[in-house]
Amino acid sequence: MNRIYNFNAGPAILPLDVLQEVQAELLDFRGSGMSILEISHRSKEFQAVLDDTKADIAELLHLPADYGICFMAGGGTLQFSCVPWNFLLPGTVGAYAVTGSFSDKALAEAEKVGETAVVYSSKESGYDRVPRPDEIRLPERCAYLHITGNNTIEGTEYSVYPETGSVPLIADMSSDILSRPFPVEKFSLIYAGVQKNIGPAGAVLVIAKKDFLEGRSDKIPVMMNYETIMKKDSTYNTPPVFAIYIVGKVVRWLKEHGGLVEREKVNRAKAELVYDALDAHPEFYRGKAARDSRSLMNVTFNLPTKELEAAFVEAAKKYNMGGLKGHRSVGGIRASIYNAMPVEGCQTLADFMEDFWKKNR
Ligand SMILES: *Cc1c(COP(=O)(O)O)cnc(C)c1O
Repeated sequence: MNRIYNFNAGPAILPLDVLQEVQAELLDFRGSGMSILEISHRSKEFQAVLDDTKADIAELLHLPADYGICFMAGGGTLQFSCVPWNFLLPGTVGAYAVTGSFSDKALAEAEKVGETAVVYSSKESGYDRVPRPDEIRLPERCAYLHITGNNTIEGTEYSVYPETGSVPLIADMSSDILSRPFPVEKFSLIYAGVQKNIGPAGAVLVIAKKDFLEGRSDKIPVMMNYETIMKKDSTYNTPPVFAIYIVGKVVRWLKEHGGLVEREKVNRAKAELVYDALDAHPEFYRGKAARDSRSLMNVTFNLPTKELEAAFVEAAKKYNMGGLKGHRSVGGIRASIYNAMPVEGCQTLADFMEDFWKKNR
């Protein structure tokens, strides 16, 4: 067996321990005589998986009691529509901080539903940064402020979140959820496609203040209605059982490895290795993100030419590293170093970067 250091942006690397556990119990799940792939979503076995997964997430986040957790389908992208369908009422304005192509897509879906305002955009400078709190002014009649916690394609991330007072703050945390502790009580709703940091494709984790979801329009399509999905404990219809089961294993793994405080330490150490390699030769490795907006999850940079970038990706394969090509919309190099990427993966990349610079400067 040869497993590479997988730097793909999503679906992405999962802990090897988790994959091995899944393999070991694939044919007979907890003595049920069935695979998890075959059991009913209404079985007591699956209900236990769901309960444990939610409890572990709540524990990791120190989630206040007035918040709920549910899983939905449709990816991060369906959430772009769910947010305005649930919360953007006539006469109110949905505010968007546009810091990358995913926030731009979220805005586009809201524009189909109601009135919006772009309260910040770094588009002009190539989405190289996120706003400081004092750069955001909210409009009158503001329904919510929507932010993208980590910009997966561009490689930027909030370290300080905007202050919104009584206006609900909503965040897309698809690529940074559970990567470090954060003040969850600042948010009315958080959503995260799980396939970046905490699972495989197929499920979206939603964490929300329960009273924020209640009493919304009865015209909301049922699969997009947060209140319904939350009240039915993610099983209004058949949820993505297998994806939730794997999220359950990943969050258990996070707990067993010191929780989010320890995860932040490890993730910072990993990011530092790669950014230090970048900063050692700034004329050769050109970081895309402004320093104060650098992501701990996705490190993005260019080399002097497209040919060198292609050669970099090819040469990295010989050192057992894959997935380093930047997103097709922006090119360049992107190293995604999510929770499950071990320190050795980042050390290998950093050593390789020094070596590649020596040979190609
Ligand atoms: C990947 C990603 C999305 C889109 O997720 P899908 O599950 O492919 O719809 C949205 N937002 C962010 C921040 C992402 O990284």
